[in-house]
Amino acid sequence: MNSTTNYQQLMNNLEYLKLKQMATHLGEVIDFSMKNQLSFIDTLLKLTNYEIDVREQNVIQSMVKIAAFPHLKEIKDFDFDFQPSINQQQILDFLSLRFIEEKENIVFLGPSGVGKTHLATAIGITAAKKRTSTYFIKCHDLIQNLRKARLENRLESRLKQYNKYKLLIIDEIGYLPIDKEDAKLFFQLIDLRYEKKSTIFTTNSNFKDWDQIFQDTKIANAILDRILHHASVVTIVGESYRLKDHMKKENE
Ligand code: ADP
Ligand code: MG
Repeated sequence: MNSTTNYQQLMNNLEYLKLKQMATHLGEVIDFSMKNQLSFIDTLLKLTNYEIDVREQNVIQSMVKIAAFPHLKEIKDFDFDFQPSINQQQILDFLSLRFIEEKENIVFLGPSGVGKTHLATAIGITAAKKRTSTYFIKCHDLIQNLRKARLENRLESRLKQYNKYKLLIIDEIGYLPIDKEDAKLFFQLIDLRYEKKSTIFTTNSNFKDWDQIFQDTKIANAILDRILHHASVVTIVGESYRLKDHMKKENE
């Protein structure tokens, strides 16, 4: 049997085993290996790394896709100079994902346009890229989905679904009022995740106003208690980034 046949057989084997990248790069790795006199182990390692790298990339891409971010803004796109009230070291610590290991929450609190959603998304993207199951949802959509699930008698499985993410990002608490029944549903989710999973919240409302959002002081307190027990609160007190160009023009 000549070597072309064996080479072809090896190609067929790789394709049969669905090792597409290894098949694609086989010729090139053989050339490299001969030229550099690589050992069998180093050659095989190089070849298998091609397969692993592409699969890792695919997993990362699908984790980011599943997370349903509103946009793919990352930390490199964030101008810390524009928002001096933010402690950059604290944000870098969040990006280490230590808070997820420690099952802590993060609350970004501040007026519209200061970068709350951007920062929450940037942390979420970092988590998803590290293969941490992550999901982004607006508070209003979350509550609507829970309400719908309850009406359809499948609240439990919906809660389970939202509870399974190692990192859940709930955006825009307080933009719309939440009635008492819905507040109870929201509480159930917060209670399930309490001390077990990390959640990032963004809000434009001070905590003292949360009883107005949830229209019930008791429920609001119960929710706040659990969110804040193990949480870092990042209060942003700057200008809106959306308005910065307008303001520049006004000052000129
Ligand atoms: P918020 O959620 O606080 O209302 P966003 O995070 O949605 O604000 O920010 C509004 C817009 O401005 C987004 O497009 C965001 O990417 C951008 N942005 C906000 N702050 C910054 C910043 N410091 N550097 C760069 N872009 C920013
Ligand atoms: Mg926002």
